[in-house]
Amino acid sequence: MTNWSEHYRKGGQSISFVPTMGFLHEGHLSLMKEGKHQADKLVISIFVNPTQFGPGEDFDTYPSDLDRDFKMAREIGVDVVFTPNTSDFYPQGFDTFINQEKLPNHLCGLSRSGHFQGVMTIVAKLFNVVNPDIAVFGEKDFQQLAIIRRMVKDLNFNIRIIGHPTIREADGLAMSSRNSKLTPEQRLTALSLITALKNTQRSLENRITDAEMLIKNATDSISSHPDTEIDYIKICDPDTLDDVAEIDRPVVMAIAVNVGTNRLIDNMILKSDQS
Ligand code: AMP
Repeated sequence: MTNWSEHYRKGGQSISFVPTMGFLHEGHLSLMKEGKHQADKLVISIFVNPTQFGPGEDFDTYPSDLDRDFKMAREIGVDVVFTPNTSDFYPQGFDTFINQEKLPNHLCGLSRSGHFQGVMTIVAKLFNVVNPDIAVFGEKDFQQLAIIRRMVKDLNFNIRIIGHPTIREADGLAMSSRNSKLTPEQRLTALSLITALKNTQRSLENRITDAEMLIKNATDSISSHPDTEIDYIKICDPDTLDDVAEIDRPVVMAIAVNVGTNRLIDNMILKSDQS
């Protein structure tokens, strides 16, 4: 992989990179189109990274269909699909991990201990091996994008990070590889995340700016659906991820809900008339 990149970089070509865990969907493809648009060559990776899954999470059941992924990547015009294997990437004795002090202590980081350490470590390893000029990440994983941007700055990676908007199904559900595991009933319940986000934006336009009240309304509406267990509903500063009590500037509302055994996340930037 590294030799391939070196060859094209020497020839003056730029390389963009989209890391994924596979079971590709239109959200991934949209990131790839952006990557293709931004550089001469496009590399994607497919790797279900064990170090970002905690005990009891869905590492063993994460959906996978490499043949289908290869076909989709080929149709988009991906130049390389990089699929490292776990024992090459984490050989016996592997003992180095990347940490960050502040951003992981919010949102998903609180309930998924060690998750972002695993994410940062794998992304740094992939960056070192692929050596891209540009990398594209989805805003759907809002906290992940913020953490990667911080890591790239702090550790002097010479890579431009591009955030890409969330791609949704026609009814608004944020696309996710995990959606494939939802039953028809759970699929309906999953819609409650985007409905709560949209309703909150509407309330804000009607000048309800108290975060506690907005969160309570969203909590009531999501938990009225069967099979839901809310992990968090937060309204925070988009840069620091600290809670915001009164919405007088753009904020991000972030939601994580277990629908059955499927963990779903979504978020939206909310703006009031004042912000
Ligand atoms: P994953 O395979 O879930 O690890 O995701 C790989 C990349 O695709 C990450 O940068 C995600 O943020 C991004 N992504 C996942 N779902 C979507 C979506 N619905 N819209 C845009 N980007 C997405």
